[in-house]
Amino acid sequence: MSFLCPLCKQNTLNITHQLHLPPDCRSDEIVVQIAICGRCYFSALAVYEESRRGALDAEHFSHQGYYLPPKMLRDLKALLESCPQPSNPRCHCEAHKTLNQRDEEGCWTYLRQLPHEGVFTLELHSTQH
Ligand SMILES: [Zn+2]
Ligand SMILES: [Zn+2]
Repeated sequence: MSFLCPLCKQNTLNITHQLHLPPDCRSDEIVVQIAICGRCYFSALAVYEESRRGALDAEHFSHQGYYLPPKMLRDLKALLESCPQPSNPRCHCEAHKTLNQRDEEGCWTYLRQLPHEGVFTLELHSTQH
């Protein structure tokens, strides 16, 4: 599965790492990811969120990329690599503890304090249009 790279505009952006977090106040599924372009080596943090609490026939999701300073991205990648069970939202490792920050209402707060340099939407390559 490849996405559109915001830098070189090719469909060569791939998810290389991911870590699943438990549901929060608005999403049923939260996945923290690292996306790297196989062509220009652009890399970013990506977050996939899905909510099934709306209308039954409509699945709501968002897939956003976050531009991070290279050092932060490297640290994040090392953190994700350190988790023994990245697909288990209930894993209790250091990486999960660091990423799974919540406020009193149970809302995920990790992104709020992230000093990112902008966002973009991950777009799936489509041959249809
Ligand atoms: Zn690229
Ligand atoms: Zn873990």
